[in-house]
Amino acid sequence: MRTCNRGVLIVISGPSGAGKGTICKELLEKHENIYLSVSATTREPRSGEVHGVNYYFLKKEDFLRKVKENGFLEYAEVYGNCYGTPKANVEKMLDEGKDVILEIDIQGALKVKENFSEGVFIFILPPSMEELKQRIIKRGSETEESLMRRFKSAYKEINYVSKYNYAVVNDTLDVAVSKVESIIAAEKCRVDRIKENTILDSKEGLIHEQLYD
Ligand code: 5GP
Repeated sequence: MRTCNRGVLIVISGPSGAGKGTICKELLEKHENIYLSVSATTREPRSGEVHGVNYYFLKKEDFLRKVKENGFLEYAEVYGNCYGTPKANVEKMLDEGKDVILEIDIQGALKVKENFSEGVFIFILPPSMEELKQRIIKRGSETEESLMRRFKSAYKEINYVSKYNYAVVNDTLDVAVSKVESIIAAEKCRVDRIKENTILDSKEGLIHEQLYD
């Protein structure tokens, strides 16, 4: 009997400007089996952002309806807007054996941790607070007020790193990406993730296949 290994839920957070979005983008381009969960948000789209690709851009009342229907794995208010992870998609992809990335804020990550302790929680850190500030300014998409709010939050958010399983400093992008890849590869080799299937399949010689495919 062969059952598909459940995919790994990878939660990536860190302060605005740490570069988690860029790291996730690279991972998606390089790995066919990694999928990004598209979040819902009530914030306005930035230039170039596409509904259903970057986010599901919802009106506040539609977002709140989905909250009532228990449609989110987690949701949180971040910088004055609501953000949430649609539940059904994530569950489906994990059941199909796909690895799923959630790129979400710290409040959301901690909520996910309560229900998905088997998730992999990775915190992306900037090389320094000064560099973080420069990156947010360079992005140029924030108003002065939003920029200050994001920067103040970043100071508080850094303290939550101890709640995560891994911390990756994003100094050089390639290095940071390869560290995250190594974390995922190691997590997929964990005996407690593969044990159930290995026991079931051991007589059919599928252990080798599971470990090395
Ligand atoms: P931005 O407005 O820059 O796209 O995102 C602002 C913050 O919201 C980022 O820290 C991002 O990771 C977080 N975020 C995006 N989607 C979600 C989500 O579904 N849930 C939570 N809790 N945070 C999210």
